Amino acid sequence: MPRGWLLPGSGGGRLRRLALWGALLALLTIGQGLLLALTVRFEAERAQDEAHDVAAETATELKRGLLRGMQGLQGLALDDGVSPQAWTSAAAALVHQRQGIIRVEVRDNQMHILKTADAAGTPPLFVQMARSDLEVEAVVACAAARRQSAPVFSRSYFVPLPDGLGHEVMDLCIPLQQAGRAAGYVVGSISLVQALEAALPARQSRRYEVSLVEPDGTRLAREGALRGVGTFVAHAVVDLPGSTFQLRANSVSGRPSLVPNLATALVLGLSVTLFALVLLLARDGRRRSQAEQALAEALAFRKAMEDSLSTGLRARDLQGRVTYANPAFCAMVGFSSEELQAAASNAPEMQPYWPPESAREYQGRQKQRLAGTGGRHAADAREGFETLFMRKNGERFPVMIYETPLVNGEGRHTGWMSAVVDLSAQRRVDDLARQQQERLQATARLATVGEMASLLSHELNQPLAAISSYASGSLNLLEEPDAATPGLLKQGLQRITEQAERAGRVIQSVHNFVRRREHQHETLSVDLLLEAVLPLVRLQARKSGARIEIDIDKRQGKVPRVRCDRTMVEQVLLNLTRNGIQAMESDTDPAQRVLTLQVRHNQDRWVMFSVIDLGPGVPADVAAKLFTPFFTTRAEGMGLGLSLCRTVIEQHGGALDFGPGPAGKGTEFRFTLPAGRVLENSETPLSAAPV
Ligand code: ADP
Repeated sequence: MPRGWLLPGSGGGRLRRLALWGALLALLTIGQGLLLALTVRFEAERAQDEAHDVAAETATELKRGLLRGMQGLQGLALDDGVSPQAWTSAAAALVHQRQGIIRVEVRDNQMHILKTADAAGTPPLFVQMARSDLEVEAVVACAAARRQSAPVFSRSYFVPLPDGLGHEVMDLCIPLQQAGRAAGYVVGSISLVQALEAALPARQSRRYEVSLVEPDGTRLAREGALRGVGTFVAHAVVDLPGSTFQLRANSVSGRPSLVPNLATALVLGLSVTLFALVLLLARDGRRRSQAEQALAEALAFRKAMEDSLSTGLRARDLQGRVTYANPAFCAMVGFSSEELQAAASNAPEMQPYWPPESAREYQGRQKQRLAGTGGRHAADAREGFETLFMRKNGERFPVMIYETPLVNGEGRHTGWMSAVVDLSAQRRVDDLARQQQERLQATARLATVGEMASLLSHELNQPLAAISSYASGSLNLLEEPDAATPGLLKQGLQRITEQAERAGRVIQSVHNFVRRREHQHETLSVDLLLEAVLPLVRLQARKSGARIEIDIDKRQGKVPRVRCDRTMVEQVLLNLTRNGIQAMESDTDPAQRVLTLQVRHNQDRWVMFSVIDLGPGVPADVAAKLFTPFFTTRAEGMGLGLSLCRTVIEQHGGALDFGPGPAGKGTEFRFTLPAGRVLENSETPLSAAPV
């Protein structure tokens, strides 16, 4: 699988993802920066607008206050003919009510002061400097007022006070008329600071420094906060009859800063949260990509594992359609994975690797299998079942199938998973091994026969010599016949016949042994087995001067029966007896040379054979190698006998071993065979042999 195909973190993919993340971050930064800048600008504009509003509002209020003061003074001017006390109290009430008017004077046409009233709360105005020194503005204003016959405000002027401070004061001059003639003036002195104080809305006094300035920029009075910053400054014109001022509102707040401002803080907070979210998202993405990478590696590993398996893997859905087949399975049946899946969707009830002759049987089996439950299949999975599949080229081959239910992540049964093992190679190996075994056995048998040839010559010599002597005796009788000749001749011929039959039997027993090759398990009496080998055993025993003793355990008078391949077991018996006889040949006193063949029941299901000799026993170094093929201590031996004997007995499910003889002398070779039932040809189940 190409690495880049599955691994999102690799090469170009990673670069692309990094670029995307970079672009996203850049956009976010620009967007958030713009938003912040806009917010700050909006805030600045808002502050500037507010400064304008404050300036305009205060200017309007100031003008309104001054005009109201003017009306009050006009009222005072009209009160002609009132008593001086009444005028004084009316004037006092006026200066008290109208903040800003701190002194009222009534003057005649020559500007001589007739009456005055000073505000109660404030120190008298003209203490430090005399009124006469500070009345030029009033005189100019009154002249203008007379000319216009209307109230006129003077320019402002500074009146020092004894405490070192002072008032910027503006006079309002109202001309008086009596019967159409000029009758003096009412002059009101207005403290600009107090007028401004009254005009400035209380809520703004902490946030704005409000000043009155002349058109040339000279500041006349200031009120409100101690000092404006100068960032948000707004001007408004206070246009009065005879005088014009500029009102300046100067906000104490500077450029909106990022933190204390709520809107800015909100935007900032949002931006920070957004960045945090992006970071979290990035971390999440990184973790996901790591998980994806791990998953991809696990998948790749699993796929590599499945691909390198020599066991075929096949998954089927609940309808029996092949949904997955690994390369080993495809190689086994010769169909590609796509072909298998296409065949499955075309005809789900028939697999292309089923031999057509068995299709019906397999369909039935599949139906049964697919309808089955997990429990039953669990047992099948352990044991597996053997069946025959067909390759694409038509070749049939045996397979072993282990099938388990496929259960998905939610615990739902979605199909079946099978491991399929091709048994054909195993079968070939088994066949080869069997053939080799047979060949070995045949060789061993021939070796035995070779040994027996010398025995035969020895054994046949006797009957042949007897025949020869009987024949020559008979011939002699015929040369000089008498009355007894026919009888003697008959006896001689009978002896010849007997000896010939004896020789024939000897030859026959060897012939039988060599010829019988078929492998067949049959149930037979132990007697029969022993009878088959005894003639040959006796031949050998006689040559070595040994005696053979047979000891069969006849339980309730019944000879034990065994289930075995007769020819093979005969060979085993022959080998063991021959070894026993040979062991006694050299060191054992001829009178003591006894070979015992013992047969015993071993529990109900087994029969134990023992071949006991009284030879020197098996030395320890020889004992360790006894069953090794081709191990022998005899010059003419092949060393195959015991290893083959063990193989034969184990093939029967029995076991072969040896130990010292029961009399504490010699050697005992024991082997077990499964007991045959009393019924002929009945099968005995084979299981582990207790030896
Ligand atoms: P071979 O008979 O051709 O030597 P075997 O496999 O039958 O091969 O025996 C291997 C060896 O085991 C013999 O050479 C002999 O030394 C030893 N052996 C076998 N049976 C006996 C026995 N009954 N007593 C002592 N030694 C024995």
